Amino acid sequence: MVMRELPPLREMIAEYGLRADKSFGQHFLLDLNLTAKIASLCGTVTDAVLIEVGPGPGGLTRPLLALSPKRMVALEMDARFIPALEATGDAFDVPFSVIQGDALKADEAGIAAGEPCVIASNLPYNVGTALLIKWLKADPLFWRRMVLMFQKEVAERVVAPTGSKAYGRLAILTAAVASARIALKAPARAFTPPPKVDSAVVVFEPLADDKRFRDLAALEVVTESAFGQRRKTLRKSLGVAAGKAGTSAEALLTAAGIDPGARAETISPEGFFKLAEAWRAART
Ligand code: SAM
Repeated sequence: MVMRELPPLREMIAEYGLRADKSFGQHFLLDLNLTAKIASLCGTVTDAVLIEVGPGPGGLTRPLLALSPKRMVALEMDARFIPALEATGDAFDVPFSVIQGDALKADEAGIAAGEPCVIASNLPYNVGTALLIKWLKADPLFWRRMVLMFQKEVAERVVAPTGSKAYGRLAILTAAVASARIALKAPARAFTPPPKVDSAVVVFEPLADDKRFRDLAALEVVTESAFGQRRKTLRKSLGVAAGKAGTSAEALLTAAGIDPGARAETISPEGFFKLAEAWRAART
């Protein structure tokens, strides 16, 4: 529920002197229709802790607060935004706090404190992939939905089907943990200042517990090795991962039931889960 009217976002940006700083990957969303659409992808959050990463001047923060989450926490690295974000929070009847710091080092599971959690973010491009991997690797998985804006190419890599050009480590790590879909596309001109590339919002929902593949550390090793030289056959490209486990690529592939003459992009996520299991078994 809104407690009091906020000044229009552009006025607030001018009042607080919030110029976009490229070194923080800042491109602001000022289009209220778009931010409302992104917020609506969070679903019902009245029972949940909503974490927004990189709120900047608060264009997405406003419609997120309007969803009336049980509690909301904003993680922002750039101290200049904190006063404007606090004023934004004060206008809503929602327990709201802003934490200043680097989201890569934040303890989001601790912030959620065992309550259902939804993460929403217009991610800074330079840290988007690292943050996604951090949240996919969280064990136990503390979030029940993530609504994340990426540059379009990254979003396409996240949802890429087996055999496609964009298929690789990101699609496979995602498939181990969640279902993911591109829910919305946003052209570069939707941002102020416009970045060089278009963006897209991906919605992630965790798979059921018994459907999840949990050894993401092993999965990272085998996918990095396999896609590091994606044009080569797995017999060749898996050499790095096999070396780390003190075995041969051939032995790992045989154990996983995969043709050593195949290329990485033709192997389904399930094939890579088997490969990760074989790698772990050889390692221990
Ligand atoms: N969400 C706002 C919007 O849509 O207008 C701003 C988006 S801007 C692309 C990314 C924001 O993330 C900036 O406010 C930037 O300061 C912040 N940021 C960058 N790196 C960060 C990090 N490692 N941890 C937390 N926030 C970060």
